[in-house]
Amino acid sequence: MNDPIPPAKSSQQPEERQAISRLRQLLNESGFLHASLIRHPRRCGKDYCRCSQGKRHYHQSWLIGQTLKGRTQMKHLRPELVEQVRVWIERYREADALLERISKTYWQRLKKRRP
Ligand SMILES: [Zn+2]
Repeated sequence: MNDPIPPAKSSQQPEERQAISRLRQLLNESGFLHASLIRHPRRCGKDYCRCSQGKRHYHQSWLIGQTLKGRTQMKHLRPELVEQVRVWIERYREADALLERISKTYWQRLKKRRP
């Protein structure tokens, strides 16, 4: 299907074209998450467990944190989900950086114009 208003390819700079094409690739995949993964060593609380003996033996666990409108929400993450969530977060960050790059090229265009 053709776009009724085709993008002006000739006016796109290589930087913008590259960013758009990578962004399209990303959007074809699924899973975007605007959040951070936080390593969270913890004790299980059992007296007989070696984690009660010192920091070296803490259990590894993960939190996922999200800050929206100044409010941070944290949630424990099951270990088997960590790798998947890491991919979602990286994808989000890459897409976000690409959008920012595209936005800069448009800002440059506006700056070049006379008022
Ligand atoms: Zn323990």
